[in-house]
Amino acid sequence: MPRTPQELVRSEILALEAYPVADAAGMVKLDAMELPYRLPEALRRELAARLAAAQINRYPEPTGRRLREKLAERMQVPAGMALLLGNGSDDLIQIVTFTLARPGAVMLIPEPTFVVYRLNANLSGMRLESVPLRADFAFDRDAFLAKLRETQPALVFIAYPNNPTGVLYDEEDVVAVLREAPGVVVLDEAYHAYARRSFLPRLAEFPNLVVMRTVSKLGLAGLRLGYLAARPQWVSEFNKVRQVYNVNVLTQVAAEFALEHLDVLEAQAETVRAERAGLAAQIAGLAGVTVFPSEANFLLLRVPDAARTDENLRRQGVLVRNFHGAHPLLANCLRVTVGTPEENLILLSALREAL
Ligand code: PMP
Repeated sequence: MPRTPQELVRSEILALEAYPVADAAGMVKLDAMELPYRLPEALRRELAARLAAAQINRYPEPTGRRLREKLAERMQVPAGMALLLGNGSDDLIQIVTFTLARPGAVMLIPEPTFVVYRLNANLSGMRLESVPLRADFAFDRDAFLAKLRETQPALVFIAYPNNPTGVLYDEEDVVAVLREAPGVVVLDEAYHAYARRSFLPRLAEFPNLVVMRTVSKLGLAGLRLGYLAARPQWVSEFNKVRQVYNVNVLTQVAAEFALEHLDVLEAQAETVRAERAGLAAQIAGLAGVTVFPSEANFLLLRVPDAARTDENLRRQGVLVRNFHGAHPLLANCLRVTVGTPEENLILLSALREAL
């Protein structure tokens, strides 16, 4: 008798659920921190020509050498550091985790945070340790350092700013972790364009610091491109875990093109950043709603009944993300991506109805 998945699949995988992605057809899509803007028409046509010239009959250059060089220059990666590209930063999180998952090794994270860190700890067999954020989602430095000393983690992930809270931790708290951590510390700067604070320029100060970024929150989520910068000694180990051709030819070509027009992408991010303040103020004016301060392209809200509001918003064609139940600190919390001015108005009026 052939055996069933229940009998054959690893127990930690049976216990998981696949990452939920809602069907967004016809919805105002404010659930996934995408940018609402597309490249201008003229640039899209130029991009099409570049893609048409790409040699898709050939495998990509495995490490994306030209794209790495361009990224290093445009993102001002300090001299002497190496870059690694990923199929989104999700891929990089997996690569770093699997590289460090010696038997018994610990991953330490503050929570709530991006769920993919925990997922990869589970998949890789790392032991996950976590320290709760404070009730206002600030970093609990004393508790985190105490846990760090106790568990001696091989790997720490800190999202800077954090998802789903939007909070940018105090730089000094992060420095304290970097000074004391015995292992690798990944600063996940996915929302860097909105926070404009970064540890990238400080890479040389901390031998085990890895700074990770993505182009997803810069208007290029569909490309699936993440990158990390670290000392070459670390990157050469990570390179052994990376799938040989993890970033495809079309992504490499399109990302190189986009970097030549970084000013356009940054201007779009700036528009969202400016919208964020107005949207936060308007939502804060709704009775019963708390808006947490955000340094990212989304806002975390606490409403009286998140399930009801989420459902009502959906009925009105607005898709947001309900975090109720994901972590005790996120009780009745919804995360909304900052959209275009029009989308934000739709969200506001739908939210008024939905509370
Ligand atoms: N890190 C954080 C903190 C994120 O919020 C996300 C996306 N939600 C990612 C990484 C993954 O981004 P990518 O699209 O590059 O895989």
